Amino acid sequence: MVTRSALLYLARQEGLKDFATRFRPFKKMTTRFVAGEDIEEAVAQIRELNQNGCTASFDHLNEGVNSAAETEEEVREYLRILSRIDETGIRSNVSIKLTQFGLAIDPELAYRNARAVVEDAARRGNFVRVDMEQSSVTQVTIDIFKRLRAEFGLNDVGIVLQSYLRRTYDDAQELLRIPARIRICKGAYNEPPEVAFPDKKDVDENYVRVMKLLLSSGTYHGIATHDPNMINETIRYARDNGIGKDAFEFQMLYGVRRDLQLRLARDGYKMRVYVPYGKHWYPYFMRRLAERPANIWFVMKNMFKG
Ligand SMILES: Cc1cc2nc3c(=O)[nH]c(=O)nc-3n(C[C@H](O)[C@H](O)[C@H](O)COP(=O)(O)OP(=O)(O)OC[C@H]3O[C@@H](n4cnc5c(N)ncnc54)[C@H](O)[C@@H]3O)c2cc1C
Repeated sequence: MVTRSALLYLARQEGLKDFATRFRPFKKMTTRFVAGEDIEEAVAQIRELNQNGCTASFDHLNEGVNSAAETEEEVREYLRILSRIDETGIRSNVSIKLTQFGLAIDPELAYRNARAVVEDAARRGNFVRVDMEQSSVTQVTIDIFKRLRAEFGLNDVGIVLQSYLRRTYDDAQELLRIPARIRICKGAYNEPPEVAFPDKKDVDENYVRVMKLLLSSGTYHGIATHDPNMINETIRYARDNGIGKDAFEFQMLYGVRRDLQLRLARDGYKMRVYVPYGKHWYPYFMRRLAERPANIWFVMKNMFKG
């Protein structure tokens, strides 16, 4: 039995990453969760999502950024994305990771890089979502977000919180006071029990608590999940409290529960799909497998089909 921890461990193995990215049949399988290797492939997928009533959020995959020069290349890639969104007229915003912008090198560098992207997005009337990564960078991510939010508007930049973290309800309360636009998700990293709830039941309970707090705040937030229980709780809470379908959006990952994405969009809910693309897809792809080890069989079956 392949466990979530084992897959998350493999996601961090550089040697395996090199092998996997060169092994063509494996690479082919990633198209289930990754929209392509360059911006134009992602644009084509987003056009299709738009035609089906969904908006999108671009995510350039590259978790292995190690130098200041590489972080600058990341910024340029995001500026190209924002420009392509305007040129093509697709309905999409962008999601960024501060580690990609140099957080491990120097938080000040990550701030400056993120600021350059948020400034360009704000000028274009677009929006930047700062993704949340492992718990060792939660506080610095929130701190940088707050600086950005102090300089830019509510509709220019937002943040992500993870319901598996014990601190998240307090963080949500504090961020709502600014106010801030928040995406709530369950959390995708391997975390110790001191910082994260080890039991799914507690993660889900916390998710619902935070979702209710967000929906009642009057600010527009993202409810990111594929879990039908979380989705039903959100729909019920909104309906019972007179919160309109336009007051929040559901968010899901590219390739996961497409049926549910389309159904919610058809039912009049706002549905945003997170669209990852890029050459460095390996750790992202492995985290998706870890969330649902049954996907491994799907991948293997197709790999050996040729
Ligand atoms: C838009 C978006 C943005 C995100 N941003 C972040 C972020 O910034 N930081 C972060 O840590 N995490 C992020 N995540 C990932 C998130 O934390 C979870 O790891 C992921 O969404 C799985 O949790 P779930 O809510 O879908 O519930 P789960 O309880 O994990 O899954 C519920 C059901 O959803 C389906 N499902 C879930 N995952 C898969 C999959 N990979 N393949 C097939 N079916 C699946 C299955 O039917 C499963 O039973 C994001 C997720 C989304 C949707």
